[in-house]
Amino acid sequence: MNKNYRAELTGVFGDPVDGNPTGVMEEAGYEALGLNFRYITMKVTPQDFPDAMRAVKALHMRGVNLTMPHKIQVLDYLDERSEAADIIGAVNTVVVREDGKLFGENTDGKGFVEALHRAGVTLDKKHVTILGAGGAARAIAVECALAGAKDIAIINRTLSRAQELAELICKRTKAKGTALAWKANMAVPAQTDILVNATCIGLMPDCGALPDLDYDTITSQMTVSDVVFNPSFTGFLAEAQKRGAKTVSGLGMLACQGARNFTLWTGKEAPLEIMEQKLCEEFGEA
Ligand code: NDP
Repeated sequence: MNKNYRAELTGVFGDPVDGNPTGVMEEAGYEALGLNFRYITMKVTPQDFPDAMRAVKALHMRGVNLTMPHKIQVLDYLDERSEAADIIGAVNTVVVREDGKLFGENTDGKGFVEALHRAGVTLDKKHVTILGAGGAARAIAVECALAGAKDIAIINRTLSRAQELAELICKRTKAKGTALAWKANMAVPAQTDILVNATCIGLMPDCGALPDLDYDTITSQMTVSDVVFNPSFTGFLAEAQKRGAKTVSGLGMLACQGARNFTLWTGKEAPLEIMEQKLCEEFGEA
């Protein structure tokens, strides 16, 4: 019998990309399942992006993740995209189909919703408040709306970006979107069921930084989540925990979206706990 020495290739294109930890968890998953897959972290500048996308096909890659600044530019190269990716207007995962066609998905928001589900929290008819209106906030807002949330309040420093996202939610989903300007010592809207920090505030090495909120308006009825995954237990989550809220970490979200990508590329159920554990180890939190 002939041996097959060819590995199935996956990876990530970004710039900057050196600090992107995705490969660590994907490779841990491949190893755990004994799959001959590799995940390569690749620096791709915007000018070189067309060549890189041609390489995806030329190298017969199984798929690729996109991070800054390619999540929107990639839309021009796809044959098909998911409903959520279409509404979000950005793609973080490309799958190469057997016929060579490129399918685009956005797993950032799906990872968020799955991390909530793992914690026993559903979105149906919930009031969601999101801090931030960038790429992560957009993906989370759309997926929460598609998962049945009743309304999504977006609080952002730049009000126009919050308004644009709130309008998108109203136009393209069944949920109601509302935009709020971020004021000093901002109160969390009283009806909030799920509060999420979708800004980079609190990210290593500035882990002492906190979103400017009146933390005493967080209640024990709320679920509070953070997109920041390093450290996994942020100052923001610590403040919420002090008020009795349930907390869900950004590391869980990252692991859940990584697991989705794994399944899209390999067709196999991802070893989520192993992938999550590997990330914890990577951040010195084993
Ligand atoms: P963007 O640059 O697209 O958006 C950043 C958002 O944060 C904007 O709304 C911006 O407000 C706001 N912001 C930044 N600094 C401040 C500040 N000092 N005060 C108030 N608001 C601020 O970034 P992304 O959305 O792509 O990423 C955000 C975070 O999400 C990153 O830390 C990223 O690592 C993380 N992430 C985590 C994932 C996971 O799986 N856990 C997945 C994807 C991202 P303004 O509009 O006013 O500039």
